[in-house]
Amino acid sequence: MSNAVLVFVDIQNDFCAGGRLAIPDAEAVFPVVNSLMREFRHVVLTQDWHPPDDVSFASSHPSRQVLDRISLPSGEQVLWPDHCAAGSPGAGLGASLRRGVIGVGRGSSGTEPQPGHNSRSAPGTKAD
Ligand SMILES: [Zn+2]
Repeated sequence: MSNAVLVFVDIQNDFCAGGRLAIPDAEAVFPVVNSLMREFRHVVLTQDWHPPDDVSFASSHPSRQVLDRISLPSGEQVLWPDHCAAGSPGAGLGASLRRGVIGVGRGSSGTEPQPGHNSRSAPGTKAD
């Protein structure tokens, strides 16, 4: 399994309890994730990463509300609460994640207010 890569997607504070887009019982993944990390030599963690004025945030559209849908040149966009803003505590990796040698894949769109909720597909950087 030395060439296998384990990838975890967007295990971030804003998706945990108290976060801006919390998922019920998200913390239940931490023991599993931390255990699996010990089994793999290569582990990648991605981060959802938005500019503060991201077009996918409802706050960027004064007449709209969270979960409204808008039409963009790239297609339909669901409007989300502000979350995982670049550099914010909410964008940080979950506090209960095992620390050590961790490479983080972070999308380059995180610094520009471009449409596209999938901000994680660009090559990653070493961080956090
Ligand atoms: Zn997002």
